[in-house]
Amino acid sequence: MPNYIVCVFGSGGVGKSCLTIQFVQDIFMPKYDPTIEDVYKKTIEIDEKRYSLEIVDTAGTEEFSAMKDMYIKDSHGFLLVYSITSLATFNDISGYYDRILSVQDIDTHGRPAIVLVGNKSDLGNERIITREDGQALANKWNCTFLETSAKDRANVTEVFYDLVRQINRKTQASRP
Ligand code: GDP
Ligand code: MG
Repeated sequence: MPNYIVCVFGSGGVGKSCLTIQFVQDIFMPKYDPTIEDVYKKTIEIDEKRYSLEIVDTAGTEEFSAMKDMYIKDSHGFLLVYSITSLATFNDISGYYDRILSVQDIDTHGRPAIVLVGNKSDLGNERIITREDGQALANKWNCTFLETSAKDRANVTEVFYDLVRQINRKTQASRP
């Protein structure tokens, strides 16, 4: 059974922990300690194949650290999360993307598996970032884009499944 490590990045408060916990435990945890950084494990079945997933729910205020670089090196794929209600979190996401590309060895591993995630889609009346904004950024990076609601469990499994499928394609492509 393949073991894939995926890392959830994004500014504080975008819903990284809520997305992870909703995916792993099927509950919406509205008040989760923002300082907790943890690794969650889940076995899933996609397209009739089983996978063991390790999900690193990152935390902390500093955008870049030796710790985050270590996660980048160890991970097979990334969820880059912003909140559709916050321009600052949307702008921050490019920093994580650039960092991933500079820390991972792109020449050896190719482009990393990434899903750009616009979370809090249930807060339509507070929306600042349009779907088109998100899609345009994903097109620029040639990655997948989905809007999610950790609260309503909208597209939560989809973002993780898409990431696993991307990692699969990359793994198969690099096999001789
Ligand atoms: P993190 O710092 O990125 O891990 O963010 P959290 O997962 O702790 O969530 C931060 C805040 O946003 C909490 O108050 C959550 O209840 C709220 N939140 C997270 N996801 C959603 C969502 O999809 N919809 C709404 N309405 N609130 C959310
Ligand atoms: Mg958190």
